[in-house]
Amino acid sequence: MFGLMMDRPLLLSSLVEHAEQQFPDVEIVSRETHGPLFRYTYRELAARSRRLAKALAALGVARGTRVATVAWNNHRHLEAYFAVSGSGAVLHTCNPRLHPEQLAYILNHAEDQVVLLDSTFLPLAEAVAPLCPGVTAWVLMTDAGQMPLQSKLANLLCYETLLDGQDDVFAWPEFDERTASSLCFTSGTTGNPKGVLYSHRSTMLHSFALSLPDTLSLSARDCVLPVVPMFHVNAWGIPYAAPMNGCKLVLPGPKLDGASLFELMESEGVTCSAGVPTIWLGLAQYMEAEGVKPATMHRSVVGGSAMPQSLIRDFDQKFGVEVRHCWGMTETSPLGTQGAPLGKHAALPVDQQYALRSKQGRAVFGVQLKVVDANGQDLPRDGQSAGELLVRGPWIMSEYFKGEKPALQGGWFPTGDIATIDTDGIMQITDRVKDVIKSGGEWISSIDLENAAMGHPALAMAAVIGVKHPKWDERPVLCAVKKPGQEVDKAAVLDFLGNKVARWWLPDEVIFVDSLPMGATGKVQKMDLRRKYADVLMSK
Ligand code: AMP
Repeated sequence: MFGLMMDRPLLLSSLVEHAEQQFPDVEIVSRETHGPLFRYTYRELAARSRRLAKALAALGVARGTRVATVAWNNHRHLEAYFAVSGSGAVLHTCNPRLHPEQLAYILNHAEDQVVLLDSTFLPLAEAVAPLCPGVTAWVLMTDAGQMPLQSKLANLLCYETLLDGQDDVFAWPEFDERTASSLCFTSGTTGNPKGVLYSHRSTMLHSFALSLPDTLSLSARDCVLPVVPMFHVNAWGIPYAAPMNGCKLVLPGPKLDGASLFELMESEGVTCSAGVPTIWLGLAQYMEAEGVKPATMHRSVVGGSAMPQSLIRDFDQKFGVEVRHCWGMTETSPLGTQGAPLGKHAALPVDQQYALRSKQGRAVFGVQLKVVDANGQDLPRDGQSAGELLVRGPWIMSEYFKGEKPALQGGWFPTGDIATIDTDGIMQITDRVKDVIKSGGEWISSIDLENAAMGHPALAMAAVIGVKHPKWDERPVLCAVKKPGQEVDKAAVLDFLGNKVARWWLPDEVIFVDSLPMGATGKVQKMDLRRKYADVLMSK
């Protein structure tokens, strides 16, 4: 027997419609690419999204057409989120820091027909356009006054001129909620990037989960600043969850340094934010140097790579910001777990509380987790047994765009991460499968070592890699960046680590570097380090 409830589809256009009706005057503040702040309301966002939908239809965008964006976090990008998906077309958010050949590859693989781009990326578009004959229109996200006098792009259009040509009378179409809404490619350190195709249903369910109290805890009293780019897994879903809950939304444009972010947080009354650890490191360094702390920003979601415990503690104790450590992937929309404590944890000594909060945390309702051994057998939830992490749920990918199949294991997606899960369901990532260090047949966790090293007061960043060793097969090598003006040597670092990790885990070498190679989504490129230091231990 079926229930007798209405079968209304979960469509993303309903979010902007809801915000227009319930929160018409709530503000959206956006840093323009050329500098100044722009502000308007959900009422205007909704009206302009409808105009953009009509303008795109006039350019031939139909159901299922792929429309790419190469853009910062700003109000026009937000309009594209609703106009494209709301029309039944697919929004393909591109990472502008990709190599031009990779960008051309994903534009072609997605068969993008229209590309919306910020002026910063015009030279990039000019470089890739000859490789992408399928793109029929390049739309510069600016007004007529800011259009270049000439461009190598023959079919370059002006975003505001397109909108000026339309009114805002438009009814969002209704269709199956399983329709594709957006497309995002994995960062792919090896081989070509692979596409993850989200649906209206998966994105909407993910927005509910993101809003829950233990994740972002969003309400109509919040002001949210997504520092995470709108091209990195849909800014972790914040552009959808903000209109769902009526949050004021602050979009930082291209200015992501500590000083600019702090100024924006203070001037706009930001209450919560989200980004990768390197962003919070920059902000912490700025606040420390200036002796300031945020007046209203009280919580932040951090993920994308492991947030060092020392930084979680600093944010809490020095700056009054609760850091929520989350784990996820492009393939998981991305929210998988969140690190908010349980009630019983309040009674633990403070050090243990921080140790728990630096783990990746509990599965968000909707996501199921397990760890398995090399034969695919379930491992116990004892907080000790490490194996590959498998996930499943309604916002977890089933296959890649254009049919590339992941090796699903009995309906579970293998994440490529190695983790433990304890009796409370708290998950801790110890490594990527490809980063784990195998020393004499035993595993050493590079993330644990990095976390320990980051506790050293003179170190700003740390990356541990496995390097070939004549006797042990592989041994850990620590690459570290010193904080500005700080002095420390190998012996002091090893001495410090000696109190924190097993002796046989201690790195065989400590290499001080000026900076670590960072990928486009804030992850250390360990492949580059492994290549560079491949032989440092071979003479030992
Ligand atoms: P991406 O698809 O580019 O977002 O990368 C996903 C990968 O980032 C995951 O499989 C993890 O290896 C890593 N990752 C994401 N969040 C965390 C976290 N909180 N701690 C450690 N690694 C993380």
